[in-house]
Amino acid sequence: MKHAENIVKASQPYTYELMLSDIHGLVHAFPFLNVTTIGKSVLGKEIFAISIGHGQNEVTYNASHHGAEWITSLILMKFIEDYSTYFSMGTNFYGFNLQHIFDNTTIRIVPMVNPDGVNLNIRGLTSENMEYHDRLLKWNNGSYDFTHWSANIHGVDLNHNYDAFWEVSRKQEPKYSIFGPSASKHSGENAESEPETKALADFTRAHDFRLVIAFHSQGEEIYWDFANKATEEAHDIAKKFRDISGYRIMGIAPGAASVGGYKDWFINKFNRPGFTVEVGLGENPLPMSQFEEIYKKNVSIMLLGAVV
Ligand SMILES: [Zn+2]
Repeated sequence: MKHAENIVKASQPYTYELMLSDIHGLVHAFPFLNVTTIGKSVLGKEIFAISIGHGQNEVTYNASHHGAEWITSLILMKFIEDYSTYFSMGTNFYGFNLQHIFDNTTIRIVPMVNPDGVNLNIRGLTSENMEYHDRLLKWNNGSYDFTHWSANIHGVDLNHNYDAFWEVSRKQEPKYSIFGPSASKHSGENAESEPETKALADFTRAHDFRLVIAFHSQGEEIYWDFANKATEEAHDIAKKFRDISGYRIMGIAPGAASVGGYKDWFINKFNRPGFTVEVGLGENPLPMSQFEEIYKKNVSIMLLGAVV
């Protein structure tokens, strides 16, 4: 499908500032979008939620818990633009009736959970994170190459920082040679110790979400369970996501990724469907050349998630 021209551009690594500029552009073009701030990162960047629709049914999608996975932010931002464009034109989008979705479901999108980590991943050490310069170098094993950095600016892996068997996540760190703040897999000092996870958890608690999807990269996989607690309905929805995207569905996540994540926490706390979608294939950060293909496979998941 051709994109209407064109606020969100998949042309370069997607920094916080690019996203900010796109949010301004989208709000200007589509006044029905509702933008709020759900909190701030360690370095004081706003964490945004962009809502579309006015339905009673509420769902939420988020991206870039992990700095190296900024392509997921681009996917969600492009989705907002395309939904808004086709909704404004009154045409279907990937076969979905947007007027119906708009009237029945409010989709709340948090496109960049970890803005400090995204910028560190893309730009490395800069004046922006100067205060953490020495610590970041140490936590990155002395390397100035941050292209594999996933954590926030405290060296906490945000998707290990939720209250879902958090102690297990923390205890198993040595098994992965993690001994404190690090580029990934460090769970923090306690669950929700980080302002980014606290913001997203507070935001989630303040709403009545029928389901949640956290977008990560990579693997072309859809995770739908946590500690065998997910409902059969969640499994059924996962199968629908599989059929519409071609991604594989997975039960319990392997190894270090099995506890402490956002969708784990959501399933555990609310007993409702929560998913992690691992987009694309390859080494993070995924190349921009994968954007169109990833987008096509995931836009259907996002539309279906609003009506399922
Ligand atoms: Zn991830």
